[in-house]
Amino acid sequence: MKEKQIRTFKSVVLLSTPWPLFSRPSIQLGTLKSYLKSQFSSLEVVTHHFYLKVAESIGYKLYHAISERTWLAETVYAALLYPERSASIEKLFIKEAKGKPRLREVDFKDLTKRVAKVTDEFINNMNWSVFGLAGFSICLCQLTSALYFIRRIKRKFPDLPIVIGGSMFTGVSAKNLLKMFPEIDFVIIGEGELPLSRLISYLKDSSNLEDISHIPGIVTPETFNLEYPVVFSQIEDLNSLLPPDYDDYFDILKTFNEEKTFFPTLPAEISRGCWWQRSAVSDNKSGCAFCNLNLQWKGYRSKNPDQVVAELDHLTSKYRSLSVAFMDNLVPEKTSGEIFDKLSKLEKDFRLFCEIRATTKRRVLESMERAEVQEVQVGIEALSTRLLKKLNKGTTAIQNLEIMKNCEELGIVNTSNLILHFPGSDSDDVKETVQNLEFAVSFRPMRFVHFWLGLGSPVWQNPKDFGIKAVFNHPNYATLFPPEIYRQMVFMIQAYRGDLGYQRKLWQPVKRKVKEWKKAYDEIHSGHVHSLILSYRDGKDFLIIRQKRLSADPLTHRLEGMSREIYLFCRQHRSLKRILQQFPKLTEDRLIPFLKMMVDKKLMFEENRKYLSLAVPIK
Ligand code: SF4
Repeated sequence: MKEKQIRTFKSVVLLSTPWPLFSRPSIQLGTLKSYLKSQFSSLEVVTHHFYLKVAESIGYKLYHAISERTWLAETVYAALLYPERSASIEKLFIKEAKGKPRLREVDFKDLTKRVAKVTDEFINNMNWSVFGLAGFSICLCQLTSALYFIRRIKRKFPDLPIVIGGSMFTGVSAKNLLKMFPEIDFVIIGEGELPLSRLISYLKDSSNLEDISHIPGIVTPETFNLEYPVVFSQIEDLNSLLPPDYDDYFDILKTFNEEKTFFPTLPAEISRGCWWQRSAVSDNKSGCAFCNLNLQWKGYRSKNPDQVVAELDHLTSKYRSLSVAFMDNLVPEKTSGEIFDKLSKLEKDFRLFCEIRATTKRRVLESMERAEVQEVQVGIEALSTRLLKKLNKGTTAIQNLEIMKNCEELGIVNTSNLILHFPGSDSDDVKETVQNLEFAVSFRPMRFVHFWLGLGSPVWQNPKDFGIKAVFNHPNYATLFPPEIYRQMVFMIQAYRGDLGYQRKLWQPVKRKVKEWKKAYDEIHSGHVHSLILSYRDGKDFLIIRQKRLSADPLTHRLEGMSREIYLFCRQHRSLKRILQQFPKLTEDRLIPFLKMMVDKKLMFEENRKYLSLAVPIK
């Protein structure tokens, strides 16, 4: 056990290093600062959203382009940590920068020099000896930068205890990290509030490190094996939390000259965990097969609507900004309607972002639109119901198309992903995707993303179920880190041996189709006021549907009487049985040819005898 001196313990410093989005303060730092201040009235809690300084120093556009890709981001400080590896790290940077016009001209050596300058100035000008503890929040893209800071600080201030935490560390990934990086004294597994405040209480009051093993949620090199799997220690009731404190981020921003200043987006949270994951437990798997977003939480918790509304009101008034991004993996199923209704009553012209499931009800989306939710990320992931089942997504293609249509109609920008190369997907999944893409072309295009294997995800835990023969660290880590570290650590991004070569060929037609979709969508909208591709006007006893086409005149269709009524009834997807119930005079023999004609013209979508009208009303 290490000997520690009794330190004067008046302040702690918490840091977030590059490369998070520069335009938002760190919610991790903001929340921890508020919590610690509420627990220790005389403790000074200094937070450094240091990434903002780097962004300002190298330029926002360059910073943003780097921060968008994990491997690009991790190369910069890896080259500073391991200068002897910089030639191969530079090659990785160049490879990852391909296809990014902003990065084509970047000289990697010059970039690392500029980043080193601003970083080293910051580290050297700070008197770290005044702090009783330094904590690092490490999420995706922050591993090498945080390690660089820790090494440099610890070299100069060996007695300063260092604690790290964040979504990069589950129990298994923390294990050898402590062995490989002895500069780190403690790792928090799970959320930070309770373990960190207990650690501070301990360090304030005691020099006896024997008891340190008894802090739940904290591991040390000595206690890791005893503690694994680590017991989480988390806040039971999120309503007990105060709003995050972003003062330190705004203080940095105030020091920038006028051209460099901007109105940041304020991160907020309603919940922690994932209600879908909690409910979708089957065959030892829970939640979406590819997801490892909830490793740092046990269970699901959410704040009550009044508290969320009060927090947003407080944060936007205090920081004089109206853009808010909810950081929840997905906003709550039950209370979202109430939250957004109440937010709209504040009558603030917010600009909100949140992540939602495809099952989100139309009335909740309408509440979101009234509250000025301008952008959502819907967990669509696939347009094949077969594949959605393999992903354990709990949704179907028709639900996905319905929410895409609803977003288009409500003017909410939907930025969703289509996952390609999912292990175990087959030609029938691809065929279904290609067919269904034909029906999605009038809605905002999705981005395709290649499946990556996340540590702790259901696929990683049950690789054989997905045809995976072996899992191991992603080989890019072997470029970033020396061999012994690559071998001994378990990193968050994993690679696998399985059917990847087959998947790459298999998904080519979908890639082509998505590219065509984007091109056509952009061209149809270019040069005009943004107008809908597939829309209708209602004449009360007839309906005119207008279908815009690329390089061709629009098609128009008129639906009279009952055809109009059926079309309007299917604005939300309806089963054949339900349509027949609604229109008792109609027989199946008459209905089916009409529906088939509508599907053939791509005006409706059909799946498993359920029908969805695709056109949206002109407002
Ligand atoms: S992808 Fe989203 S909905 Fe699925 S388990 Fe993860 S957090 Fe939950």
